[in-house]
Amino acid sequence: MTYFQLNFTIFAENLFVIMSLLVIGTVAFDAIETPFGKTDKIVGGAATYASLAASYFYDNVKIVAVVGDDFPESEIKDFNNHHINTEGLQIKNGEKSFFWAGKYHNDMNSRDTLVTELNVLADFDPVIPVSYQDCEFLMLGNLTPQVQQTVIKRLANRPKLIVMDTMNFWMDIALDDLLETIKLIDVLTINDAEARQLSGEYSLVKAARKILQMGPKYLIIKKGEHGALLFHEDKIFAAPALPLAEVFDPTGAGDTFAGGFIGYMAKVGTVNFNNMKNAIIFGSALASFCVEKFGTEKIRNLSQQEIAARVEEFISLAKFEI
Ligand code: AMP
Repeated sequence: MTYFQLNFTIFAENLFVIMSLLVIGTVAFDAIETPFGKTDKIVGGAATYASLAASYFYDNVKIVAVVGDDFPESEIKDFNNHHINTEGLQIKNGEKSFFWAGKYHNDMNSRDTLVTELNVLADFDPVIPVSYQDCEFLMLGNLTPQVQQTVIKRLANRPKLIVMDTMNFWMDIALDDLLETIKLIDVLTINDAEARQLSGEYSLVKAARKILQMGPKYLIIKKGEHGALLFHEDKIFAAPALPLAEVFDPTGAGDTFAGGFIGYMAKVGTVNFNNMKNAIIFGSALASFCVEKFGTEKIRNLSQQEIAARVEEFISLAKFEI
């Protein structure tokens, strides 16, 4: 199928269906230090990266998150410029936004968290606006598992696809809630160290088998600069990561990947293993842009041509015939 035929099929399938993609997660301030430099407080957060990434594939992205009154109005406008609906973004007067500071080691793969100030997140009650109840695709970005679960329960109809991202922080402090929440979802995205922690298995294949028995139908294990693995029943798909000459800041790469993944799935509309393989490539392409500049800078101004060219690079990187 040519690129044109693929897009026409997607267009025809979605012609009379109004669906939306709901993203929840943190909208935050980050302070980042890498071997290449340091930022003061810049806008970050899992929902920020994920919704921006998804907006390149799907124009009905809605966000549920919370910020304090220190969060700039211009940043909310920028979400809207990307056609991201912010009706579900709560602004708490007199309170401060979530703040995270991290410092990367020289290998750029590992980092230390220097500060996590929950602020408004400490008692976040995710209110779902009525206009969001048409949600067919749900991205549960990194947040307290309890809040992620509440969002699922507050939707009148179960979405067609629920993707959840989480991290070791929640495995350490809220494992029971996490295990309960992953029973309710379709796709779990975690990194290799987190897959090992959650399963107690070193082999990622054994880890995946165990995690798939915990509830999710699909598991994506992100391996940073080594790509990602998709597991479903007895099937495995391995996606490469693009070898990049310059990596400035890996912050948000996982969220960008997840946002690109679910944005593409919402665009094609049909949930199956084959579409997920393509979605992983589109998510990886977006993540490869994210790391090229600090914070969200690079993924705020991408063109469809740039994305298409990057996807072509992925295709030629992994293509071989025997
Ligand atoms: P990543 O690099 O994909 O892990 O995502 C980094 C983003 O996650 C940053 O922009 C932070 O604001 C956000 N973040 C850091 N710690 C947490 C946490 N415990 N819960 C939710 N979001 C977090």
